[in-house]
Amino acid sequence: MNDLSLQVLRTDASGMPLEWIDYRDAVRLYHMGLVAYTCGSTLYRVHGGISSLTGAQSIVEVNSILATYGHSSCRRGTNNYTPPLNNDTLFRRDAHLCMYCGEHFAPHDLSRDHITPSSKGGPDSWNNVVTACKRCNHRKGNLSPEQANMPLLAVPFTPTHAEYVYLQGRRILADQMEFLKAHFPRRSPLHERVSM
Ligand SMILES: [Zn+2]
Repeated sequence: MNDLSLQVLRTDASGMPLEWIDYRDAVRLYHMGLVAYTCGSTLYRVHGGISSLTGAQSIVEVNSILATYGHSSCRRGTNNYTPPLNNDTLFRRDAHLCMYCGEHFAPHDLSRDHITPSSKGGPDSWNNVVTACKRCNHRKGNLSPEQANMPLLAVPFTPTHAEYVYLQGRRILADQMEFLKAHFPRRSPLHERVSM
């Protein structure tokens, strides 16, 4: 306990996962009275302010999952939500595997491949992009997978908000993982990965 680098999973009052926050943000939410309830394990005990009445120093216990009051602005729980596309999250969606040769690579050896190339009008969106090693991306060039005779190893998908939160986590604790998993769509390809 008291590893302050551990992230706290913040949810809205209905339990919808929203984002990862650090201990400073968590303590701030407690002090502002915005914590509706907590789940999971105690991550750390943080010393708060000293009471002018009693002279005692308050201690805030921060849990691994914090539900907060208030509404999330951008309908994250709905089917219309599309998380922002960035390489970091894309590579994690595809488990750092090249979707053409199937090999595992470090992030700096990976690239964003457009299945239908941009030059042929392929959009820069989750369903048209996959992780590819630089060699395969170069080999595929301006061709579709069929034209290049390079079949895709997995079907790309747009993460839901809960999946996106999972993909952004650094060191996800078991109780946080259980919580996030419960919010994945039933057919999420990520179920398989997190059960390992
Ligand atoms: Zn490859």
